[in-house]
Amino acid sequence: MPEPSPAPHGFPGRLLVFEGLDGSGKSTQAALLGKWLQARGYRVFFTEWNSSELVSKTIRRGKKKNLLTATTFSLLHATDFADRFERRILPPLRAGYLVVSDRYAYTAFARDAARGCAPEWVRSIYAFAPQPDRVFYFRVPVQVTLKRKIASRQKINYYEAGMDLGLSDDLYESYERFQTRLKQEYERLAETDRFTIVDSTRSVEEIQSEIRENLRPMLEHFPTGERLVHDR
Ligand code: ADP
Repeated sequence: MPEPSPAPHGFPGRLLVFEGLDGSGKSTQAALLGKWLQARGYRVFFTEWNSSELVSKTIRRGKKKNLLTATTFSLLHATDFADRFERRILPPLRAGYLVVSDRYAYTAFARDAARGCAPEWVRSIYAFAPQPDRVFYFRVPVQVTLKRKIASRQKINYYEAGMDLGLSDDLYESYERFQTRLKQEYERLAETDRFTIVDSTRSVEEIQSEIRENLRPMLEHFPTGERLVHDR
């Protein structure tokens, strides 16, 4: 069987990243893809960006007392991501897994820029994070994410709405403005970092089949194994 061609990051595994606004459908698609890949016999490691124990308490305390500036917020998140990267992403990538990552450094690029950090500075902090093999960007209008949130009775989080930035006193208006800023950043990154754009206003099934089709050439010579590992 032909060997798979080496990835730019030089590790035997492949890094498949899912990015986009909250409510854009990333987790739904990442979970479906993970199961499908496993069913086809690939070794899959699934990981998502939830704050690690290392910094979550500090972030929570800082938020509560309003101690964090855009810079300190950004540095704490970078520490959090470095922890996740070294413990959860790098080992399976080295071991030849298909690593399905729900959010990656781009989430920080978008979020920190939307909070006023200089984009080049943020990027320099994340220089340790290699370029993924694929970044699927779930493009969706902000209004759609809001509708999905309301439909699934998810609460809008104070920070997700950027309420701390003083954009508006109204939670929904602030959410729209802040998420619009995030979207602008994602759109910019989509060009500079060659994201694979997925129109996420379509049905779950349509989106999933497009993702699978997109990955077909990459998977053609990729070795199969037997395990799916989840980082929870
Ligand atoms: P994210 O991980 O980007 O925050 P989720 O996958 O959690 O998004 O989806 C957010 C909500 O939208 C969930 O209630 C989910 O069931 C719903 N959803 C996901 N994909 C679609 C879709 N293509 N069309 C309609 N609703 C969707």
